[in-house]
Formats: sequence, structure tokens, C-alpha cells
Amino acid sequence: SPVNSYYPARAVVDLGAVRSNVRALREHASGGAEVMAVVKADAYGHGLVPCARAAVEGGATWLGAAQVAEALALRAAGIGGRVLTWLYAPGAPLAEAVAADVDVSVAAGWALDEVVVAARATGRTARVHVKVDTGLGRNGVMPDDLPELLARAVEAQASGAVEVVGVWSHLALADQPDHPTVVGQADVFAHAVRLVEEAGAHLEVRHLANSAATLTSPGVHHDLVRPGLAVYGLSPVPHLGAPADYGLVPAMTLEASLATVKRVPADHGVSYAHAYRTPTSTVLGVVPIGYSDGLPRHASGDLPERPGGPVQVGSGASARTLAVAGRVCMDQVMVDLGPDAREAAGDRVVLFGSGEDGGPTAEDWARAAGTISYEITTRLGARVPRAYV
Ligand code: PLP
Repeated sequence: SPVNSYYPARAVVDLGAVRSNVRALREHASGGAEVMAVVKADAYGHGLVPCARAAVEGGATWLGAAQVAEALALRAAGIGGRVLTWLYAPGAPLAEAVAADVDVSVAAGWALDEVVVAARATGRTARVHVKVDTGLGRNGVMPDDLPELLARAVEAQASGAVEVVGVWSHLALADQPDHPTVVGQADVFAHAVRLVEEAGAHLEVRHLANSAATLTSPGVHHDLVRPGLAVYGLSPVPHLGAPADYGLVPAMTLEASLATVKRVPADHGVSYAHAYRTPTSTVLGVVPIGYSDGLPRHASGDLPERPGGPVQVGSGASARTLAVAGRVCMDQVMVDLGPDAREAAGDRVVLFGSGEDGGPTAEDWARAAGTISYEITTRLGARVPRAYV
């Protein structure tokens, strides 16, 4: 803020972890597949530009941005290399993307038309990746509609407006590597690749694998893997393995300081609706971070028996992990520090971090809220300052 940048909480992002995660992902990538670091959604809440730079330093040769604006922001920051953008509606600034040498996904006839217009406007050849819906039921051309789209793409290619350099798709159940849909989608993908090649495209990259498939399904790595979550050190398959099992280190630590520490009597109602009542006379800690900062309200601790999201208070040997007591508020959460608490206002609090010291992780918060870790970091509020180490 131009007035004052003070904020009582911060997200510390370890760019060394991003670099080493990408190095680990390069090791996981089979057959010499390259790595596209997916940096959409502000690098999953970690900060677009610093994380993109770190990913490139770690060996990512491609960057993936859903939004055109994100791809352009990478270029505006002076980041070179290959960048793919894929999610746009009619009227998107594709000419700017093509002029900035950004590869563009095409998932429908209208999109091809707009890419051709953009290419002509810039006098350049647009590099296109044809997106096929191999079974996710989301963005992508249906396999039956692929021949028609390809016929039009061949025409556009002959005119010099576009060059089809990629075919790609996305998996629906990559986190269940033994699920038959993984093989099913891989087969549909192989067929689509053949069709595109038979149409005369000189494909540079075929890509299908997200983080989960990069870690668990080497058979679908093709020329390029496209991990997002794993770049930031979180496990896309928490039911199969923790980050460390895959050589990953969570990059973000969300921390704050205790704002208030005070004694309250037994049976004291804590936070809205008094959903938590103190079982004894105890010491209450107030942590100045809440749902407007991205902590999920579903991770409220409604009863002593149903604890909320984990909160580590203190540091070093005296650090201990407690649970949110009562409802998560817009700007604050409370913890019951216990009757003999020694903490004081100003003591460090970690909401989640690498977990290496046994402290809480984004995955723990996801579990407490009944969601996935993706949602925990991507929803981190814009007002929470990011600090880079
Ligand atoms: N590719 C596409 C098209 C995506 O939408 C995403 C993110 O959802 C990714 C790759 C990266 O997925 P993940 O974060 O699971 O690795």
C-alpha cells in the first residue's frame, strides 16, 4: 500500500524450493520429456513472476498460464522461453499474445478463427496447440470434431497464419493412476496425435501429464509434462505419498504473530455463534488472519472434540501445534493456548509451511476443511504480503 505496507501476516515463499522441485520433476519426467511449469492463478497463490523465474532456473523450458493476461505479464517481466496460454473466450487479446511470442491453445473452431485474425494483425505465424477433450469433459475439442478442426487448421497453416506445434489434453483421474480412465484417455490421446500428424503437422510437443501423472504415470509423459501443484512442493496424491516421498518441498510458509493473548474463564464462548466454549479457565490467543486472507471457514473448530485447522505457535523446541477454536472470522482466528500457556503477544504463528519440523501443512488445512491443497494456496488473499527467500 502507498500508505503503509504493515500487515500482521505474510506468506514466505522459498524460491529455492521451487527450483529444487522443478529439478525433481525433471528427474521424474521419463524419456527426456521436458517440464512446463504451470504458473496460472498467480503461481497457485505463490506469486507469478518470482515463481516463473525460479521454475526456469530449475530447468523448466516451458511455462503454462491459463489466462492470456498471465502470459503477457510473464513477457512484460522480461521472461523469455516458451509460454503457453489456453483459457480465453471470444474477444481475448490474442494479437497481443501472438505478438509476445506466446503459444496459444485452440479448442474450438471460433478460437482458430480468432488466432488466424490475430496472426494476420501481427504479421506473425501463431504457434498453436490443439486441445483435445480425451475424457475430462472440460475445455477441448471432442475427438469426433477433431477432423473438421484439423481441416481448417491445415488451411490456416498453408496461408502461413498458424503452425500446429502441439497436441494436448488433460486427465480426469490422474490422482488414481490405476484407474481405467487414465489408460482410456491415453488411448484417445494417441489417436488424436495420429490424426494431427496425418494432417501434416510437424508436432514439436505432445503433452498430457499434470503433477499426479508426472509422479505416478510415466507412460503418459510424451514430450512434455505439465505439473503445477508439485512445482510448489505439494503432493497431488496425498493418499499415495507426502511431498518428501517425491523429492518435493512445500515452498510456502503462511505465518503471523499472536495479536492478543488473554485469560478467559471456563465456559467462555469463543468467536461467532460460541461454537467453541472453553472447557476450563484458559488462555486464548488471537491470530490476525482469517477467511478474507484465504483460511477456509470450513476449517472452524466447533467443539473441543472437533478441532479446526492446525496452528503452530512459538518456535524452536517450545513450538506446539494447536487447533483453531471456534469459527474462522474474516480477519482472525482464535486458539485455546491452555491454562498454563507461556506464549505472549507477538509470538510467531505458522498456519502452514514445509512440515519438515512436524508443523502444519497446506494439506492439513485442506483435510480440516474438506478440500484440496490447491484451494488452500490459490485462495490466499491478495492482501497477504508475499516475501521471497
Ligand atoms: N494442465 C492443465 C490444463 C491444467 O488446468 C492444470 C491445472 O489444473 C495443470 C496442467 C496442472 O495441474 P496440477 O496442478 O495438478 O499439476
